[in-house]
Amino acid sequence: AASPLRRFEFTHPQMGTTFRLVFFAENDALAAAAARAAFARVDTLNAVLSDYLPTSEAMLLCEKAGGAFVPVSPDLWRVLALSRHFWRESRGAFDPSIGPLTRLWRRTRSLKELPDSSKQIETQRLVGFQHVSFSESEQSVRLEKPGMKLDFGGIGQGFAADACLKILREKHGIRRALADAGGDIALGDAPPGERGWRIEIPAPDSQRTTLLLKNCGITTSGATYRFFELGGTRYSHIIDPRTGWPLTTRTLVTVQAPDATTADAWATAISVLGNKGWKKLRRRHPELRVWLTETAF
Ligand code: AMP
Ligand code: MG
Repeated sequence: AASPLRRFEFTHPQMGTTFRLVFFAENDALAAAAARAAFARVDTLNAVLSDYLPTSEAMLLCEKAGGAFVPVSPDLWRVLALSRHFWRESRGAFDPSIGPLTRLWRRTRSLKELPDSSKQIETQRLVGFQHVSFSESEQSVRLEKPGMKLDFGGIGQGFAADACLKILREKHGIRRALADAGGDIALGDAPPGERGWRIEIPAPDSQRTTLLLKNCGITTSGATYRFFELGGTRYSHIIDPRTGWPLTTRTLVTVQAPDATTADAWATAISVLGNKGWKKLRRRHPELRVWLTETAF
């Protein structure tokens, strides 16, 4: 008989958050090796996707914006292709070409002064996934306008959480696993003897729900948790690409999806769309389960 499975937990700081793995394995040595491999994969993805590392593959691609097509790695290609997919499906609410605006608003946050409107308009012109060209045959990508910047903050953690589960499953035979990238959670098979992983859906007030979930992804996007205040207004870390302004409504969105990448991207998108915008799209997305609350700041 196989030796009984034991529960292991490992953490690793990366991508501006702390990654946490929980899984069941036969012994310490197998567990440690599996966790090391999963975290190495996260480090690799950070070196591809980061918008903080000037030498990340994504930032080197941005340096060539306005120039020729650039061949990209399979990881960057995959994340860009998924980004385009969610950008289309969300009618532009999710847009990882938002980089110039995230930079503008990060500066606003530290200078404590709103950008003047000409600067704002000029920056917004650099945003739009329609200006990202794909050459399918060459796996090459071109950012059409000089100054364009990618920001995978709305999808990278979910993608990395899914990648962790894939490594555990395919390289180490570990299927009963959870990978949490600071709220972007990928779930594999249930813990031994259980029907699922116990996941709490955050909600304002007392309406918290606990679910038993497996083989899916779940994310909570909280304009409620991450914001800055200026002139009496609270601005979220999520920006509406259509206006160029950060959200000022207090949305709390939780999305359950077939995987964490999908949940991550849609949680950001639905934060932008709000209740009204999401209502128009939700019939097209039976694969998503959404909890949304919206109040004024
Ligand atoms: P999340 O926490 O997953 O909702 O992602 C928010 C992060 O994604 C922000 O910190 C930005 O880096 C980036 N972001 C902001 N607005 C958008 C948007 N409309 N579409 C895609 N990414 C965004
Ligand atoms: Mg997201």
